[in-house]
Amino acid sequence: MLNLVLFGAPGSGKGTQSAKLIDEYGLYHISTGEVLRDHIARGTDLGKIADQYISKGQLIPDDLMIDILDDVLEKNAAGKKGVVFDGFPRTIPQAKALKELLQRRGTDLHAVVGLEVPEEELIDRMLKRGQQTGRADDNEDTIKKRLEVYHNQTEPLRDFYTVENKYLGINGTGVVDEIFDNIAQGIKERTGEDRRTKR
Ligand code: AMP
Repeated sequence: MLNLVLFGAPGSGKGTQSAKLIDEYGLYHISTGEVLRDHIARGTDLGKIADQYISKGQLIPDDLMIDILDDVLEKNAAGKKGVVFDGFPRTIPQAKALKELLQRRGTDLHAVVGLEVPEEELIDRMLKRGQQTGRADDNEDTIKKRLEVYHNQTEPLRDFYTVENKYLGINGTGVVDEIFDNIAQGIKERTGEDRRTKR
């Protein structure tokens, strides 16, 4: 199995690089942001709760988020070659929970790919995405709040996973395919797993 976390600030390219990881390694993709946006679009009870946090740029509480992830894994991950976790974990308690959820299923986390992008570029990218897709939380005020939350609550995970010897820092600026080449090279060195398309 190959279980990866795609880590990085909002706007760092996690969604874009996830799509390539799924293609090249045959992995199952879980984006907690997408799961929540889908609930909001369908108007579920969970969606109504999630919207209150997402619209303010805040994180959904850990207990709720961990239950949601457990449920998605239970319904979808069995029999898959592995999973790309995109946007989870975002806090230390979530990272600890992920370890336990994977251990319970007889597997482990193999690498944490961290996309590193300067703050001005993150803001530019999110403002553009907001204009192009209409994504509600890609507006100036919410972007500011999300970056603050990222620095306070999520960035400490970099040290957490560095200590666990799982963190793989990747320059997330430049051409999408070149960024992916660096990710693939790092995964190969760390886990021995190779991409489908040789370059
Ligand atoms: P994303 O699409 O990953 O940028 O997530 C969009 C929003 O969904 C975030 O700003 C949070 O409000 C919420 N969210 C997504 N994943 C998580 C998570 N792991 N923990 C808490 N909140 C999350």
